[in-house]
Amino acid sequence: MSDNYKKAMPVPGPESVPFWEGAKNHQLMAQKCLRCHHHWFPPSSVCTSCGSRDIEWVVLSGKGTVFSFVVFHRLYHKGWDGEIPYVVGVIELKEGARMLSNIIGVPVENVKCDMPVEVVFDDVTEKLTLPKFKPV
Ligand SMILES: [Zn+2]
Repeated sequence: MSDNYKKAMPVPGPESVPFWEGAKNHQLMAQKCLRCHHHWFPPSSVCTSCGSRDIEWVVLSGKGTVFSFVVFHRLYHKGWDGEIPYVVGVIELKEGARMLSNIIGVPVENVKCDMPVEVVFDDVTEKLTLPKFKPV
């Protein structure tokens, strides 16, 4: 944990507060529709599948697979200095929601689509925890 975190900081909007509070408690949260049981991310005020407002926040398993990814070889933000190359992936969670995050704990050349991954929580500051994913 560090208070001199140099990367861009997410700014939670009203709809994403439960996600960030969950992350601080090391729980991966997403919304679920009570009508059609669809899970989705990022947060919204209605179900992204059927449009219902009958929705709730649930804790996800944190398990999924790599749907897609890119390897960053260029420094686009000085906060990443010394950490390139790094991987940004779209994770397809077991519950169906897709989430964008870093894939860590594996050499970048070994990241593959459909690779099983699970969430890990990076407490980057006292107020911010980032869910990231590592191979199972
Ligand atoms: Zn729905």
